[in-house]
Amino acid sequence: MPAILLALGTNLGDRVANLARARDLLEQNVLRIQAVSPIYETEPWGVLDQPRFLNQILSGVTDLEPEALLDRVKDIERAMGRIFGGVRYGPRIIDIDILAYDDLVFRSPRLTIPHARLPERAFVLVPLADIAPDWRHPLLGLSIVEMLAKLDASGVFPYGR
Ligand code: AMP
Repeated sequence: MPAILLALGTNLGDRVANLARARDLLEQNVLRIQAVSPIYETEPWGVLDQPRFLNQILSGVTDLEPEALLDRVKDIERAMGRIFGGVRYGPRIIDIDILAYDDLVFRSPRLTIPHARLPERAFVLVPLADIAPDWRHPLLGLSIVEMLAKLDASGVFPYGR
């Protein structure tokens, strides 16, 4: 079964509970979870005047095709009360991004895999290094450590440890 990497982010309400609920809904509807990263707290990105985010990465396997995977992920965001059409990069109960799907390079109007902003997001690469250190970006040919070396990760803090 294809192996996938998902990124979770939340900055509204009970953030730890939001991550737990998303993991439960993903396990029930989307993938068999194989690894879960530690949680990190991160400075907001894009829109700066908003609460800090908690971020976490999951890996697992699924038999869903990429676009069906996106549909299920969007269903979970909706079920958790995310309001669509709000401020881009603004506050959210849950954001679920598909980072990678095996070594697939996929592009459609709705979906880009690997996630287009993965190489520029320290809050994704830091937890990714914890659970998938050997993963390599299939287009850029760079490892996580190599991508991270180009970024400032000073706004990414271990949370609750
Ligand atoms: P976001 O605001 O981060 O939830 O993303 C908004 C839109 O990005 C989604 O509705 C998707 O159609 C699109 N998108 C493109 N590539 C991806 C990806 N790899 N994972 C999740 N969403 C994606």
